[in-house]
Amino acid sequence: SDEEAAAKAAAVNADTGAPTIFDKIISKEIPANIVYEDEAVLAFRDKSPKAPVHVLVIPKSRDGLTELGKAEKRHEEILGHLLYAANIVAEKEGITEGFRVVINSGPSACQSVYHLHLHVLGGRQMKWPPG
Ligand code: C5P
Repeated sequence: SDEEAAAKAAAVNADTGAPTIFDKIISKEIPANIVYEDEAVLAFRDKSPKAPVHVLVIPKSRDGLTELGKAEKRHEEILGHLLYAANIVAEKEGITEGFRVVINSGPSACQSVYHLHLHVLGGRQMKWPPG
């Protein structure tokens, strides 16, 4: 199916540790539609939204967090900060009746950008289980 083909194509991407496009979004070299920002995190609209609200929340410093699967004890604070920021985004976007937070970690989860990011999705009825 188209869905399986898309999943396979996405799954070819693996972590190389190379810089990602998100560095240019953080440095504002590439414009993004920012919905929330503080000293440690940046939240901006996904360029290919999968729901009426689809925002990515990322750490401004990757610090080895290419994917959640690389998390270490020292990352606990930023991980909590990202999740808290996801709820700030949901409140700002008016999707508090229900929203989903997704982290794709690694090729089998179809991660495509190796800079940790939380997807905040809402504004429609979400389905379960995800694909
Ligand atoms: O979890 P995954 O790594 O697949 O998600 C990456 C997300 O980053 C995708 O939803 C893609 O649309 C988004 N993206 C973006 N702007 C870019 C590159 C990717 O919003 N310049």
